[in-house]
Amino acid sequence: MRKYALSFDDAVAQADNPDSYKLMKTNDLLSKTGYGELLSRDELVFLLDLPPDSLDVYMVMAEANRISKEVSDGKAEVHAQFAVNLAPCSCDCLFCSFAEVNGVFTASTALSADQAVAYARQFEKDGVNALFLMSTAHYPFERFLEISREVRKSLKPETTLIANVGDQSVKSALKLKDAGFAGVYHAVRLREGIDTALDVGKRKRSIFNFREAGLEVGTCVEPVGPEHTNEELADMIAFTASFNPAYSGAARRIPIPGTKLAALGMISELRMAQIVAITRLGMPRSVSGNCTHEPCTLGAIAGANLFWAEVGANPRDVQVKTEEGRGESANSCRSIFQESNWEILRGPSRFYKSAV
Ligand code: SF4
Repeated sequence: MRKYALSFDDAVAQADNPDSYKLMKTNDLLSKTGYGELLSRDELVFLLDLPPDSLDVYMVMAEANRISKEVSDGKAEVHAQFAVNLAPCSCDCLFCSFAEVNGVFTASTALSADQAVAYARQFEKDGVNALFLMSTAHYPFERFLEISREVRKSLKPETTLIANVGDQSVKSALKLKDAGFAGVYHAVRLREGIDTALDVGKRKRSIFNFREAGLEVGTCVEPVGPEHTNEELADMIAFTASFNPAYSGAARRIPIPGTKLAALGMISELRMAQIVAITRLGMPRSVSGNCTHEPCTLGAIAGANLFWAEVGANPRDVQVKTEEGRGESANSCRSIFQESNWEILRGPSRFYKSAV
C-alpha cells in the first residue's frame, strides 16, 4: 500500500481546516484504490469536485499515472485514425463538425479503396500500435466492409485494425469481425439523446453487440464541456467501467466555431487531466488503457497511456484534412509521451488483445 502526503493523525490535528479534511479524504481514497478497490459514485464525485490546481488533484494525477504504468508495463500506445468519408450527418451530434445542423461541411466526399489503403499503409509504416477506420453514421455499411477488406489485405497480419462506426446489430458486428477488425471504438457520449439525435439505449446495446461478436470495445468519457456536472461525469466513468473495456479515458469537447455548444466554452487542459486521472481510478485493473484526446503532456502525466494521430476528415476539425489543422501525427504523439516520461510500445496494441 502506498502512503500519501498527510497521515490520518496529522489530518485529525488539523480537522478544523476544510482543506486538511479534503486532503485526508483524498489520501484515504488513494489508499483504497491503491489496493485495487473501485471507488463509489460519491467518491468519484468528491474527487471531481476538487479544484484542478490543488495538491489533492496533483496527488490523484500522480497515483493515476502510477496505476497506468503498472497495468500497461510502462508502455504507452499511439493509435491512428482516418475517416473513409466526409459528409453532413443527420445524427446531428451538436459537438461534431459533420453534424448537418452545424453547417460546417455541405458536400460529401469518400475515399477510394486505393486512397484508404495508402493512408493505412503510411500509418503502418509510421509504427502506430493500432489503426482505426472511421465513417459517418450513414455511410453505406457494405461499402465500409469492402474498403476495410482491401485495407486488411494490404497490411501485415499482426497490424491491429479497429472500426469506428455507428450503432450495429450482432449480425453486422460479426461482419466487422470477419472483415478483419480486432475491435471497435464506441462510446455513449455525455448527454447522448439530448445533444445528439441518437438513442442512449441503442448506443449501449451496440457496445454489447460488438462484444458478443468477439470485438474488443474501447471507449471514453466524452466530449466533456464546462456544463457537465460531476455527477454526470461520475455516472459515465462508472458506466464505462461496467463493461470492462479495452480502455476508457476522458476527452474534452473541442468547440466547433459558431455552433451552439461552442458558446458554452471549453474546459482547461488541467481540468481534463483531472478527469482522465479520476477515470483511471474508476476502472478495474483489468482495463489497461486510459486514453485522452487531444494529446497533451498534462493528460499523459495524469495517467493517459493512449493518444490518437489523425489524418483526413475529423469530427473535431473544420479542415477537410485534419493533418493541416488539429490532427497530430504518430511522431508528435510519441514525443508528447516521451516528454511526459512514458516509454512507447513497439508492435501491435496490447489494449486490444483479441486476435483477428
Ligand atoms: S459524431 Fe458521428 S453520428 Fe454524430 S454527427 Fe458526427 S458523424 Fe454523425
